Order: sequence, then structure tokens, then C-alpha cells
Amino acid sequence: MNRIRLLPEQVANQIAAGEVIERPASVVKELVENSLDAQAARVTVEIQAGGRSLVRVVDDGLGMSRDDALLCLERHATSKIRRAEDLAAIATMGFRGEALPSIASVSRFTLTTRERASDSPEGTQVLIGGGKILEVKAAGSAPGTTVEVRQLFFNLPARRKFLRTEATESAHIQHYLTLAALAYPEVAFTFQRDGRLIWQLPAVKTGSDVATRLTALRERLRALYGAEQKLLTVDYSAEMLSPDDLEDPTATPSSTLNPQPSTPFRLWGFIGSPGVSRSTREDQHLFVNRRPVENRGLNFALLEGYHTALMKGRYPVCCLFLEIDPAAVDVNIHPAKREVRFHREAEVRRLVAQAIRQALLAFHTGKPESGSTKATARGPSSAAVEPAAGKPDQPTEQSALPNFPAALSPAPAPPAKPAAQQPTLRMGFSPTPLTSGPTANRQSPISSPALPTPAPDATDATHVTPVTPPSPSGPVPLLKVPLRLVGVIGRLYVVLESDRGLVLLDQHAAHERILFEQMLNRLEQHDQAPSQRLLLPETVELAARDASFLREQLPALTRLGVGLSEFGERTFLLDALPPFVKAPDARRFVLELVDELKAAGRELNSLRLGEHTVAKTVCRHAVKANDPLAGRELENLVEDLRHCAMPYTCPHGRPTLIEMNFRELEKKFGRTQ
Ligand code: ADP
Ligand code: MG
Repeated sequence: MNRIRLLPEQVANQIAAGEVIERPASVVKELVENSLDAQAARVTVEIQAGGRSLVRVVDDGLGMSRDDALLCLERHATSKIRRAEDLAAIATMGFRGEALPSIASVSRFTLTTRERASDSPEGTQVLIGGGKILEVKAAGSAPGTTVEVRQLFFNLPARRKFLRTEATESAHIQHYLTLAALAYPEVAFTFQRDGRLIWQLPAVKTGSDVATRLTALRERLRALYGAEQKLLTVDYSAEMLSPDDLEDPTATPSSTLNPQPSTPFRLWGFIGSPGVSRSTREDQHLFVNRRPVENRGLNFALLEGYHTALMKGRYPVCCLFLEIDPAAVDVNIHPAKREVRFHREAEVRRLVAQAIRQALLAFHTGKPESGSTKATARGPSSAAVEPAAGKPDQPTEQSALPNFPAALSPAPAPPAKPAAQQPTLRMGFSPTPLTSGPTANRQSPISSPALPTPAPDATDATHVTPVTPPSPSGPVPLLKVPLRLVGVIGRLYVVLESDRGLVLLDQHAAHERILFEQMLNRLEQHDQAPSQRLLLPETVELAARDASFLREQLPALTRLGVGLSEFGERTFLLDALPPFVKAPDARRFVLELVDELKAAGRELNSLRLGEHTVAKTVCRHAVKANDPLAGRELENLVEDLRHCAMPYTCPHGRPTLIEMNFRELEKKFGRTQ
């Protein structure tokens, strides 16, 4: 007896819907992607009850003929690919031909569409209930497509039960729309929730070159978030090896389409400056060929790139666009197309980390690394409004040059570059640029009657409010401007004054950063960091697992001045430490090293990371001078900090310096608002 049967179309669609349509946000995603693929210039999204009772997406894109309007509701019907080979290089958002029939099978669905290219003023309307076509009729409509999805999962009660609160579902929708809006600044987006206008994002002029697109992205960020944020510009290009078929035996023969040995790799966008981070990945927006993606490798690469500029357990804030040969990335590994796989994952990861590192270094050193890697920064959200152009509220940086003590003056490097031509930088802790030159005019905030509301989650909004664009030419970074010593408070915080305002320095954080870099420099030059024999060597016994782990790290530890050697099965002898380290409790010190190394090994993989982790941990044990340092010592501290590659954070990513400029002070004292 034959027991196998082909499933009815409707059931097959519902099964597909189970994968593609998880929740109302998936409906919004699929419909908006279709609008974008149809070259819409304006997309309007309306939802009711978190998208459960209604999702409506209206676009002014290409539209469809009557035949296409019917065909698009069939499973595996798509205009975007034709052959299997096309899967190797997908340039559209959609390609699976599954979304519309899936959505239509689990909702009450109306498609209204009119072909842009046709002369007829008449469009087509198709009504579907739970996958069954109820009616097809002619309907007058503007060119473009409107899809209305009501009562999602009405015929799948189990599914409906899994939906979360309206607020949560709305938040998911808004999150996706944010991604779409960031990827397509040239498209105007309107978002309405329960009859309330949430966003009205005007279309931003953009072009094909990265400079123009950065400007457009910056403007879109500002329209989306309104608030100010300290961001650095990333623009990094490299050559990458072509996707290699040998790596993946199932890959389609892409190398034949792509005979050259290398393909371009480009990463551009904005990242938070040191000190800007979040406790979740929520403000981490990553796109691959304009598609918002999740990819563990990219997440790691970001952390790797930030390295010591990010606190443990914190995540970067970024909006980054990775552009690579579509043949070098597989987008067909997830039904909702959320994840991607790179054919050369390790290389992508390395290049992304490098791009981030370069942007951070450029920021720290205060000069653009290459012609295209710029770094600028802006302050927190409290200063959403730019200072009016020409407002004479601040003394200029240059005017105070002669006043500061020689010992604290900046290194011979020219401190005051002509701001007009050279993109100068500022450090990331102060809100608004004080330079009210020609740039201030250009940066008037977008004032729209319906400014976006921030994302509903504000768990740690105090630390970081959503991103906003930096100025094209930020002011001079803090350590490049003259600083005058005022005093020390709490035996820890050094109070300094610049011509921009107040500066506080965390003595310990600064000390750790300096030691960390000196240690690594020594290592680089002499292959051995300084070490001092202990008068009383100590033995440390560890658990078997920790012991075997530590055994592998011994060479790196020795190179960094931590004299540890095997002294039995699970016992080690600690007989030397870097001169500035005092470890009264040897066992705790060693255990901490083991823990940190293990944690780092899980999170990241980088050749030099082991050394960096050791150095970081060792520096934490640096002798802490609790007596207030005297003037000369303090001057040396600032001077040493100036010479660091990444002076603005300690090796654990905490800030070393905080700046409060006159504007902020005036605000706090109610002199301005
Ligand atoms: P896919 O996007 O993977 O091709 P879909 O089921 O989402 O599959 O859509 C099927 C087809 O319907 C698309 O390939 C496209 O030709 C057409 N289509 C869907 N939405 C729109 C739209 N908003 N405007 C124009 N054409 C559309
Ligand atoms: Mg689609």
C-alpha cells in the first residue's frame, strides 16, 4: 500500500510560513524587502496591535501586471533569480519566492498592485483568506503595490499563542524598519503604529561613491535618532582572495564567473568611539551587501577590532556596511535570510577587525590613517541641538597656546592644524564641537514634525543613547590640546583644564594604559618584557584542567615577565613578576590569569591576544599609587599617556579621561539650555 502523498499546496505553504514567518516583524521584513527590490522611492508601513491585527505596506515601486499579481502568490514564483547559478550571486533582498504565498496562507491577505510601466490606470486586487484565493478584481490604484495582512496566524491558533505582547512585537518591527531605513537612505520611510505617526524619514540624496553614502547615512542616522552620539567614521578597503571553490565542495562554480585572483573588500560606516558601548548588541547594525545580517564571525571581528577599547561584557555601537563580491557570501542558509556565511570567513574576520582597529587608531593618534579613514566624534544625546553658527561662546583653542606649562604642552606635533582643511579630531567624551566654523551651518538638525521616538528599550540609555553622525571635521582630540594641571581629588582623579573646559583623568586607568603599552612595546622590541625575581618564590596548586590549560600558556607568560614553571603534576612555581606588579596572593593572581585567558580564548581568536590578555591582567595588579602624585609625576603621567597609541581607554576599555566642555558646564549652571 502506498502511504506517501504530496502535500496540498496550502499545507506546504503553511509549513514554509512556519520557517519564514515567525512573527509580525517577519511579515514587515518580507514586504518591505519586496518594496525595496521593486525600486520603491517611498515605503509606508502601518501596523495595528503589534502587527497582529494589521500590517500594511504601501510602495510606489514597479508594481505588477495582473498575471504577475496572481503568479507571485504561487510558491517558488520569483522574478529575481532564474537558474541555480544565480544563487551564487544574489543582488536582491528576496530570491526564494516563498514570502507572499507563505504570508497569504496564514492571514487574511489583500494585494493591490498597478504596474508602473503600464499606461492603464487600472490595477489588480487579489483577496486571499488562509491561502485560498477569494476574489480577483480590477481596482483603481496609484502605481506601485499595497499589501495588507490582517489577523496573522488566525488559522494557526498555536502560532498565535506564541506571539508576545503588542509592545514587544512592535519593537521587533521597529528594529527591522530601522535596519531597512539605514540601508536605504534614498528611500523615504513612513511608519505608523495604531494610527500614530512614528517616523517620517525623508529620502536622502545619495550616490554610488562611499563618501556620498557616508554623508547620506549620517543624515539618515540623525533623522532616525535625532540625538547626538560619539561616532567614528570607518572607510576601509582591501583586496580579498576570490571565493575558493575548494573550500566548499558544494559551492556553485563561482570562480569561473570570477576569474581574477582577488576581489575588493570594503567596510564603511560608523562605529562608537572608545567609551561608547552598550550592554546588548541592540545598536550593532551590520550589513553585508546592504542586507542586515547576523554572523558570529562578524561579531567577533568587531570585538577583536575594539580590543582594549571596549569594556568586557559591553558591545559596540555601530552601523557598518560590508561590501564584497556576492559570490563570496552565501545568503541562502537561513529561511528568513537573516544569517549569512562567508566563503572565506577567517579573512573577512581579519579584515573587519583591521578596519575597526584602524579607525580607532586614527582617532587616538588624531590623524586619519589613510586618505579615507577618518575619525570624528560627537557628544551624547543631551546636546541634540547644534550651537548656532558663529555663536561666540568659546575661546578658540589656538588663542590659549602660550598659557600652559611647558611640561604639559603637547608633543612637537603641530597642535593646532588649520581646521578648515584638515579633518581634525576630538576625543569622544564631550558633546558638541566648539568650533563654530563653516561646518556648523551644514549640521543643522533635521527638524521634522514627527521626529522618531527612540527604541522602546532604554535599559542602559544612560550609557549610550542611539547613534548619531559625527561632524565631517571634528575638533582636535583632547590630548592634542594644551592641558593645565589644577589638582587632584579623591586621591585618584586628576583635575585638568583645557581651553575647552574641564578635564578629569583617572590616575589608575591612565597608569594601566601606559604600563600595558610599555609592556607590549618592550615585548615587540626585545621579545621579553622586564621581569624581576621574587625574593620568596611561591608554589601554586591548580585543578587538573586549569593546570593543563596553564601549561600551554607558559611561554607567553614568561615572555611577559611572569616567571611561572612546572613544579609537579598540578603545581607551578611563581618566581618572577614584572617589576611594577605586586601580587601578595600568588594563587589568586595565577587563577585570575587563567580565568582571563580562558575567557579570551572563548571569545576571540587572534594570535597576539594571549599576550594582550596577560598584559592586561598583569597591569591590573600594578602597584597603585594611592598618595596623590606630585606635580612633576602627574605631568609625566599625562605626557606618557600622550605617547600611547590608544590613550583614551585603559586596557579594559574604561575611559582614562573625561571632558566636560564649557557648553556642558553652562548648561548645568543654567546659563544656556
Ligand atoms: P521573492 O521576493 O523571493 O522573489 P516573494 O514571494 O516575496 O518572493 O515575491 C514574489 C515576487 O512577487 C517577487 O519576485 C516580485 O516579482 C513580486 N513582488 C512581490 N512584492 C512586490 C512589490 N512590492 N512590488 C513589485 N513586485 C513585487
Ligand atoms: Mg520577497
